[in-house]
Amino acid sequence: MTNRPWFPTIYLDKCDCCNGTYKCVNFCPHGVLEVREDDVSVINPLECIYGYSACADLCPKEAIIFPRKEIVSRSIKKKSLLHPIICKGCGKKFL
Ligand code: SF4
Ligand code: SF4
Repeated sequence: MTNRPWFPTIYLDKCDCCNGTYKCVNFCPHGVLEVREDDVSVINPLECIYGYSACADLCPKEAIIFPRKEIVSRSIKKKSLLHPIICKGCGKKFL
């Protein structure tokens, strides 16, 4: 298990690559996503900001999902794994 178990899963059967524009890949300010062999891949899961899911919100195919926050939160609080991080995109502080 990672120390920040928060990252997207891409359902490739739903993804249509935004007709070659890959909205989520171009949007992500943390380099979590990349195009590999024409598909969206999660290449840097540990760079995703805990609790953040903006790429899922912008996906027109609902092809990006995140775990349920309350379940992850309960699990990592138990293990004292939360730590603060500043989002490079918006400047807000997240855990
Ligand atoms: S935003 Fe959704 S449909 Fe578009 S490339 Fe990303 S996962 Fe695929
Ligand atoms: S939630 Fe934000 S940081 Fe995480 S993959 Fe989506 S756009 Fe990137």
